[in-house]
Amino acid sequence: MGERKEVKIDKTELTRQKEIMLRLKENNNMEYQKNGKHKRYFVITFGCQQNVSDSEKLMGMLDEMGYQKTENREEADVVIINTCCVRENAELKLYGNIGAFKQLKIDNPNMLLCICGCMMEQEHAVATIKKKYRHVDLVFGTHNLYRFPELLERSMNEMYTLIDIMNTEGIIVEDIPVRREDKFKAWVTIMYGCNNFCSYCIVPHVRGRERSRLPEDIVTEIKQLAADGCKEITLLGQNVNSYGKDLKLELDFADLLKMVNDIEGIERIRFMTSHPKDISDKLIQTMSACKKVCEQLHLPFQAGSNRVLKAMNRKYTKEDYLEKIEKAKKALPGVALSTDVIVGFPGETDEDFEETLEVIKKVEFDQAFMFIYSKRTGTPAAEMENQISEDQKHKNFEKLMKLQNAIGKKANDHYLNKTVEVLVEGPSKNDATKFTGRSRTGKVVNFSGKGDIIGQLVNVKITEVFSWFLNGEME
Ligand code: SF4
Repeated sequence: MGERKEVKIDKTELTRQKEIMLRLKENNNMEYQKNGKHKRYFVITFGCQQNVSDSEKLMGMLDEMGYQKTENREEADVVIINTCCVRENAELKLYGNIGAFKQLKIDNPNMLLCICGCMMEQEHAVATIKKKYRHVDLVFGTHNLYRFPELLERSMNEMYTLIDIMNTEGIIVEDIPVRREDKFKAWVTIMYGCNNFCSYCIVPHVRGRERSRLPEDIVTEIKQLAADGCKEITLLGQNVNSYGKDLKLELDFADLLKMVNDIEGIERIRFMTSHPKDISDKLIQTMSACKKVCEQLHLPFQAGSNRVLKAMNRKYTKEDYLEKIEKAKKALPGVALSTDVIVGFPGETDEDFEETLEVIKKVEFDQAFMFIYSKRTGTPAAEMENQISEDQKHKNFEKLMKLQNAIGKKANDHYLNKTVEVLVEGPSKNDATKFTGRSRTGKVVNFSGKGDIIGQLVNVKITEVFSWFLNGEME
């Protein structure tokens, strides 16, 4: 299918990891035969969907090594904390969690405590763990996740914390075992990293530059998922719109969508996250033409003021953004729009903030993920002098939230008495006599129904509308 710029990891490395997994599995089986107890693992995942996806790989490898998953940390032999550094107070939360495992390590000295994820790509965080949390057994980063079996085995024989952080951008490892928590829905990473360097964001610093997976590898993975009964795929990347730019192929994200749309058995396709500067007319037309692509678009605008957008290094204007939204609304009738907004970016004035509110009112998003700006060590915005007071940030945040909540409820009101297609996920958490699932537009729908319908697409008439979910009856 063409030539690739990046070097993929050589297969001997993968074979080596597989050999280690097999060896550990044999050891674990022997132990089970001796004492009748399976070795267990417990995983805590912080942060975004990329981290959830990474944890699915770590769990897949642990399953392969003969460990069993537990929800009880006290009986775990291997504990993994998969960290995130994007959210506020993430470090404090992590240290709190690590501290809480100290007593468990004393009670069970054979327990292996492993910390990984994007925070471990930050030197100061690793230095703190090394100095203050000596009960941690293993620290590794995002680039060497595929070497987890080897690192786990090595850490079993180490007296001190084993730290292995690699800066090996350009490597994409296929065929890592994955433990999927959901049979009917799956996240499929199509690319890693980001090239954009928004001035507030740590992602490019900890996840590296953009690397796209080969289309044939993505298609093979999704065909296998379809064969296993999966109906809905979410294509995942920090900026999916720039998929393929690093490949020496005549292919972009819209082309990939078409390829996925052709896979038999897959009924729904979603994707996230998109960058407004990269969303093309071709992509919008492709979304409209591909029947399996859901009427849902997450397009973070972050701020309404062009001055703030420039300081954020977002590379689009409010006008560009609104134009793209209009195109999407026209091409995709009933599209559910969602966004990310940052309140209190350094230097944001009252007038700037008013422009953010104006965008919210104009677009009428179904959902907005709103964040109060907080400094991320290592980003240019953290060094900016005109930081906004906490008090002001919180006041504006409240105002924004109130506005969006009213708009979000109004967006849901459109569904009343309408029939929507729902992919049934299981019994409702709040009422076991009901089922729950999501519409094509991503709305949570709870409904009365009967029969063996989990994993099926059913039609539901909406009878009640709330801000965060819809209620209905199966037709
Ligand atoms: S596009 Fe910007 S905000 Fe998104 S991951 Fe890349 S640098 Fe961060």
